[in-house]
Amino acid sequence: MTTDITLAFIGGSGLYDMSDLSNKEEIEVNTPFGEPSSTIMTGMLNEQKVAFLARHGKGHTISPSDINYRANIYALKALGVKRIVSISAVGSLQDQLAPGNIVIPDGLFDNTRKRINTFFTNGMVAHIGVADPFCIELSKVLCKSVRNTGATVHEGGDFITIEGPRFSTKAESNTFRKWGMSIIGMTTSPEAFLAREAEMCYAVMGHVTDYDVWHISEIPVSVEMVIQTLIQNTVIAQDALRNLANDLPASKVLNCGCSDALADAIITETNSVPDETKNHLSLLIDKYI
Ligand SMILES: [Zn+2]
Repeated sequence: MTTDITLAFIGGSGLYDMSDLSNKEEIEVNTPFGEPSSTIMTGMLNEQKVAFLARHGKGHTISPSDINYRANIYALKALGVKRIVSISAVGSLQDQLAPGNIVIPDGLFDNTRKRINTFFTNGMVAHIGVADPFCIELSKVLCKSVRNTGATVHEGGDFITIEGPRFSTKAESNTFRKWGMSIIGMTTSPEAFLAREAEMCYAVMGHVTDYDVWHISEIPVSVEMVIQTLIQNTVIAQDALRNLANDLPASKVLNCGCSDALADAIITETNSVPDETKNHLSLLIDKYI
């Protein structure tokens, strides 16, 4: 099942729908890794056909630890998607990253504990390179698209992903700050790593909703605070995505290595890979075996 869609958005907390899309359709996609978080919405955004997936399900029913990240990424890959922009609610770990600002991070620290973070299991091993876990070229275009909305955008920064679903303790938050982290969230690991394994460009639009729990002048983060700021930011998010659909037509080539990320990563000899694993991974590995 491939389509003419190359650009997809994964919406996080507070963004479960895209009202801007015209000619909307809901597509159900099943994958060898199970069902994605929800049906995938497709539609036209300006001149470009795009896909949208609600990461936590449409009524926000799926906890960060329970999201089937592999099914989500695989389903988008099956639709032909090459570029993913993740919209994520994030906490700020730095004074200058204020609620309402947007951060396009360039680093990722995985502090999650119980997630399947690879497609390559069951007899096939691949060691993917993720030194720069986000597509540098897609991040650049995204940054410009956000800046053109008039929003305050910060380019770069290290993003720490925690297991959740609880927020941080003060001891944790202060430690992450000492480590030099910029923003904190719960879903970008393993999503970014799986997108790289699937040879897709992946970038994050991080909407700062709060100062986590370290900021002594602020009330500690709560769900209400996160959702309120995010609702205010939804207009910015939709404007930015509309700009992006213009700035990044399907025909535009990005000079990044994402589409060949697996070329030097697979270590298992093809003959040793069980047939069932080959079948499950065919969408990702057919060009290499
Ligand atoms: Zn890329």
